[in-house]
Amino acid sequence: MISSEHSQFLVGNYAPPAIEIVRGKGSKLWDSNGKEYLDFTTGIAVTNLGHGHPHWTEAISRQASQLVHCSNLFSIPEQVRLGKRLVEKIGSGKVLFCNSGAEANEALLKLARYAGNKQNPKKNKVVVAENGFHGRTLGALSATQSPKYRNGFEPLLQPFTFAPLNDVEAFSQSIDENTIAVLIESIQGEGGIYEADDHFLQEISALCSERNILLLLDEVQAGIGRTGEFLGFQKSGITPNAVAMAKGLGGGFPIGAIWIDETYCNTFGPGSHGTTFGGSPLACSAAHAVLDVLEKENLIQAAKEKGSYLKNQLAKRLATSTSLFSEVRGRGLMLALACHEDPAPILQALRDAGLLLVGAGGHAIRFLPPLTVSIEEIDQALAILDQVISSHLASSD
Ligand code: PLP
Repeated sequence: MISSEHSQFLVGNYAPPAIEIVRGKGSKLWDSNGKEYLDFTTGIAVTNLGHGHPHWTEAISRQASQLVHCSNLFSIPEQVRLGKRLVEKIGSGKVLFCNSGAEANEALLKLARYAGNKQNPKKNKVVVAENGFHGRTLGALSATQSPKYRNGFEPLLQPFTFAPLNDVEAFSQSIDENTIAVLIESIQGEGGIYEADDHFLQEISALCSERNILLLLDEVQAGIGRTGEFLGFQKSGITPNAVAMAKGLGGGFPIGAIWIDETYCNTFGPGSHGTTFGGSPLACSAAHAVLDVLEKENLIQAAKEKGSYLKNQLAKRLATSTSLFSEVRGRGLMLALACHEDPAPILQALRDAGLLLVGAGGHAIRFLPPLTVSIEEIDQALAILDQVISSHLASSD
């Protein structure tokens, strides 16, 4: 039971929750009644190491007792070292830290605006993929097409133009002499797990360099190993001009970052952009611990392998329940089982049966387990899914 004080004291901007979560370990969560759940939501692609990974917990506890925050008035060694590690994983350039996905996208958009203004103040248009999601701040929201997020907040920032994902021609036609940037997710997460295909990313990358436009990648949800690459776009072999990261980077502690390539990494000078908390010693220590575990436990490869196991298993459920499901999408441990109808009743039945999953646009059930999930846990989740599918089909007969 959720306390009535929940709605008494908390703003009602989220859907009313059904359960209260009080503890987590590995791939499991427990509610305040002691009921155990398999967590295939990972706090929406955040706790990629599972809950309470000992290396991560030890690292943030140690850092908390040494220094939590001092601001960017000072050089922070953990931040410098994290910048170096990210550059080694992405490409030559530099890193700027912030606190969330929306802030990271905001920084990408401000980078593009700043770079555009230096060339020609009219060069400020950004072309974005339809059905994307980039966050809730006014800039990130302006880059998000869906009325579900925008309604009631207009007028938003201008000028943004939307073109269908994977349609090179439409992107090409949307780009004009006033365009400064293209912004895309390598896999649309909130939109329903739709992949930008390799050919599309390669063509858009070529188009952007030809026309001197920044290519910006939003890796907030797909990044940090989840798709079987460190960042989702890396599968296509392109190098964008800048990338937004957050969510999985801190493993549950808030941190966001943008990586900027050598061409644009000196665009922001002192005072041009900043945030009080960005890249604090504690946030950076959490991110170091995430990178340590990804490397030590070979979790990126594991995401690829376990993801393909789970995807094959979901494809079997699709084949036997075509009246319920329409498609399996995604790669690595960023997958969706698309339904013909709103999956809310199925998600509720799964939760009651002990499996936590989250919906996504396009009537999809999203599978975002921790990268540390075991095959046994995936099998347990599938057994719960099978049980819920049978009762759902039986009740709709
Ligand atoms: N970009 C993408 C691709 C996301 O999936 C999200 C959140 O779901 C965001 C940006 C916004 O991140 P945050 O909620 O940390 O502001």
